[in-house]
Amino acid sequence: MPLLDKFQAVAAIRAGLGGDHNDPTGVVIEEILSATEGRVAGRRTILAGTNNYLGLTFDPACIDAGKRALEAQGTGTTGSRMANGSFADHTALERELAAFYDLPYGLVFSTGYAANLAVLAALLEPADAVLLDADAHASLYDGCRMSGAEIFRFKHNDPDSLEKRLRRLGERSANALIVTEGLYSVLGDTAPLAEFVSLKEQYGALLMVDEAHSLGVYGDRGRGVAEARGVLDQVDFTVGTFSKSLGAMGGFCVSPHPELDLFRYVARPFIFTASGSPATIATVREALRQLQAQPQLRENLWRNAHRLYDGLQSLGHQLGPEPSPVVAVRIGARDDALRFWNRLLEAGVYVNLMVPPASPDSHSYLRCSVSAAHTPQQIDAVLEAFRGAA
Ligand code: PMP
Repeated sequence: MPLLDKFQAVAAIRAGLGGDHNDPTGVVIEEILSATEGRVAGRRTILAGTNNYLGLTFDPACIDAGKRALEAQGTGTTGSRMANGSFADHTALERELAAFYDLPYGLVFSTGYAANLAVLAALLEPADAVLLDADAHASLYDGCRMSGAEIFRFKHNDPDSLEKRLRRLGERSANALIVTEGLYSVLGDTAPLAEFVSLKEQYGALLMVDEAHSLGVYGDRGRGVAEARGVLDQVDFTVGTFSKSLGAMGGFCVSPHPELDLFRYVARPFIFTASGSPATIATVREALRQLQAQPQLRENLWRNAHRLYDGLQSLGHQLGPEPSPVVAVRIGARDDALRFWNRLLEAGVYVNLMVPPASPDSHSYLRCSVSAAHTPQQIDAVLEAFRGAA
């Protein structure tokens, strides 16, 4: 088949999504009004699908830190850390992340996606086995594939299914890596990390947890689901992103293993891409300080999350299994979800549309993400829009 012909199928899918309506893959936020509001299709719109969990994108201290770095250090690093050298802020951020987690080693990457590719491709070789939660993020799948290791999927959040696979691996289990997330980004459910930690110890495997959506959200100090479950010190590799609760861009890994520091020399997604810009890294350092200095942000976030979850439940919607800042509303058929999503947008509420194969089962979802910066009135307006659109 000629190379370009396959795009006819893509064009047909896109035409089906748009039609008379707004195309959910082509939303443009014409103006950003605040951490929780923008102008979409000329209308003032509540942003309820942004992963801006702590609302730090407009934090004055973060903006100030970014501006100062921009002026002092310029617009970009223009190269990779391996070839062009690290800026002092990259290494300072690595030390600060390690200290935040009470761990000796930290490494910063250009994106969360690159962090997952880098850690997995550095850790695993084709002879190794990786046990991957079936609903894991695409970046975790891609990292496993990039490594060439043999991939064994276990049922989502299911310790029995994981144990079966570990048992079947026999002696290879002692050389296996278990890969899971903390908070899952589509249904807003959390991994049974205490059970996974017991299994990894029983079988001698290592455990990697992607806390992309749980950093700043779970745990007494905001370090994620592993902290909330009391097993943070037993996780071998914690990865995360700066693009959600920290409101910027980039990714990281922290670990008790000294080998993490050697990933710099073998991880291609670390070596062959430009490092985070000075302004980005400076805002991340400040956001990490704000995350720790303002625990009330987490309290506001959870207050809003419960308000939305309880309200949608009262409206009779089928939601994910536990209240969390990710609230997934199951709609079922794709076309119904598309219509519902459009009505919400017309009512001035932006959420994320998730349709198969991007959703974890055969259903379609409207995925809301709550922010500490939402006011109770905004949450009520979202609920009112859901009531009207239904
Ligand atoms: N891991 C998970 C679980 C994610 O949801 C995402 C982003 N959606 C990433 C990693 C990648 O992070 P980033 O967008 O910072 O590259």
